[in-house]
Amino acid sequence: RSFKDYNLGDEIRRALDLLKYETPTKVQSEVIPKAMDNQDLVVKSQTGSGKTAAFGIPICEMVNWEDKKPQALILSPTRELAVQVREDVTNIGRFKRIKTTAVYGKEPFARQKEELKQKTHVVVGTPGRVKDHIERGTLVLDQLKYLIIDEADEMLNMGFLDKVEAIISEIPSNRVTMVFSATMPKDVESLCHKYMHNPAHIEV
Ligand code: AMP
Repeated sequence: RSFKDYNLGDEIRRALDLLKYETPTKVQSEVIPKAMDNQDLVVKSQTGSGKTAAFGIPICEMVNWEDKKPQALILSPTRELAVQVREDVTNIGRFKRIKTTAVYGKEPFARQKEELKQKTHVVVGTPGRVKDHIERGTLVLDQLKYLIIDEADEMLNMGFLDKVEAIISEIPSNRVTMVFSATMPKDVESLCHKYMHNPAHIEV
């Protein structure tokens, strides 16, 4: 297994070198080729498996820098995770100058609104605040190509699945959807079934 197998652009390869990611983890080797093939994916994997880069690498590779509207949305159950994911994606996309914005509760709405007004390629956020931004028109997802639902079982535990569904209904249906979860409760499975197109199932 090697990152050289994946047809990644120079900018992403340089970023992985800088991060000292030499060998793909198991989940990365399963997810990256399928994601770059635009497959919907349901991925059962734990924190610590390298799952953030598993979706971060293909997203950064596929983002078109010229497009001014968000192309990827990552939903996270907590602010802490959203901030961590923004940092990881920023690091992977640094040489492509990919702009990633995080939006979450308990931080002034206005600041995030200003940040979203700039060209941002990737948005990471908690469901409540993402939904607020959509409803107020400060986040427009009509060009979205990738939707990642991270830690879906935690979303369920925190009562966020309704908000997640409301957000999904605002996103073009010709997107690629990836769901990551440590466990697969029934409600997460039915969400996947309802909103995904023949997803490949990956378990690591
Ligand atoms: P995660 O499961 O996304 O929370 O990642 C766990 C840790 O593994 C993070 O600190 C990453 O920076 C690190 N990591 C992810 N992918 C690789 C890789 N291919 N090689 C070395 N470290 C990695």
